[in-house]
Amino acid sequence: MSNTTVPYTTPSFIESQWQSLFEGRNEALVTLALLFFSHEIIYFTRCLPYLIADQIPALQKYKIQQKTIQNTSQNQWKVFRYVLMSHFFFELPMIVGFHPVAVYFGMAISSVPFPPLSKMAMQIFLFFVFEDFFHYWAHRGLHYGPFYKHIHKLHHEWSAPFGLAAEYAHPIEVLILGTGTISGPLIWCYFTHDLHLITTLTWMTLRLFQAVEAHSGYDFPWSTHNWLPGWSGAEHHDYHHMAFTNNFSTSFRWWDHIFGTNKKYLAYRARKDQELKAQEVKKEL
Ligand SMILES: [Zn+2]
Ligand SMILES: [Zn+2]
Repeated sequence: MSNTTVPYTTPSFIESQWQSLFEGRNEALVTLALLFFSHEIIYFTRCLPYLIADQIPALQKYKIQQKTIQNTSQNQWKVFRYVLMSHFFFELPMIVGFHPVAVYFGMAISSVPFPPLSKMAMQIFLFFVFEDFFHYWAHRGLHYGPFYKHIHKLHHEWSAPFGLAAEYAHPIEVLILGTGTISGPLIWCYFTHDLHLITTLTWMTLRLFQAVEAHSGYDFPWSTHNWLPGWSGAEHHDYHHMAFTNNFSTSFRWWDHIFGTNKKYLAYRARKDQELKAQEVKKEL
């Protein structure tokens, strides 16, 4: 009799590690630990290069705002403590609810093999597009008078942001914007029944990379928007923090362009470029 339970491919090293992580353990608890600890490790290590950059005088020319300095050790410490508290008291309860909801929507959790990389990339791209659209409107809504005053103002405490400030936000804002991150995968899962936790985890990691970079306050030559057309990056979001208006999207520049919420930003950029040219001409003379 043939054995039909033998997998059609040998698990890769990562797939074997994934399997052994779940084997004999409570799937919900492993998922919870995986999501929470990976979020902690990824968030703070992603902030590290910018904290190091703060200490290197030669890199200060890449700081987007040269006049307003808020990335002092005192502010970083204040934000670090708040974000850590927010992770434990606001984000952890949301992560606790993730497993039952994900299973209900049909997400594959502990199974292997993982989906092919091309499928993961396609799904993650769709999540980026969905989240960006959601974030654009939710964020624009948060700038409405009472919502701004009672919720979003806290995130805008920093008019010259720094990496750690990416998740410095009111718990209601954490909930609203977190919904944008997770509802893309859940909606996809509901309609296709074709999504693995590893893809969701990779998406969340890339989303964290994006959020920290956008708040970093640095525009390096190697920053993502300098080589990825249409990407927002720090140069785009920093203006939002500085001017308290325009540039509501998070990952891409197209929604602000389509809905006309980048006009002040474009005028500012044009002025800046002119100033830069004038300085270069002065140097040549
Ligand atoms: Zn805002
Ligand atoms: Zn922000």
